[in-house]
Amino acid sequence: MPFTPLHLGPALALKSLAKHKFSLLIFAWAQILMDLQPLAVILTGKGQAHGVTHTFLLAIPIGLAASLSGRLVVLGLARLCGKKTGTTPWLTWRIAILSGLTGSLSHVLLDALIYTDMHPFWPFISTNPLVTGQLTDGGMATLLVYTGIAGLIVMGVSGLVDWIGQP
Ligand SMILES: [Zn+2]
Repeated sequence: MPFTPLHLGPALALKSLAKHKFSLLIFAWAQILMDLQPLAVILTGKGQAHGVTHTFLLAIPIGLAASLSGRLVVLGLARLCGKKTGTTPWLTWRIAILSGLTGSLSHVLLDALIYTDMHPFWPFISTNPLVTGQLTDGGMATLLVYTGIAGLIVMGVSGLVDWIGQP
């Protein structure tokens, strides 16, 4: 972690720029999958909070799992709601995989900037060269909130411009 929902801050900024080429839902699903291990450690009191799931190597299969399962669930729900999913370009495999991997890999990167107990480059490097001590947990949380607010503002302005531009 930082608190899992805070990881959505950069995702909102990314969504505001990439629009339909990025799935916020699959990115968010990847955040949840990434923090299942720390949650289990918190609940049981056993294990390392930022263990092997918080490495770039393991973030790849977790991101792919988020892509696969997230796409299946979203398309299934869309079909249940009567949306014709076969003819729409949204949530292609490419978008799902990019969104899932962006979610899991950015999760490791952001956590690695503040947690000394992480080994993001495991098994190649056994320390955390990304943590400098310059950024605190609170500082990271503030940064993530601000990026989320910036993304929401861009989305709002973009939506307004689109709306104004409609005939
Ligand atoms: Zn985490």
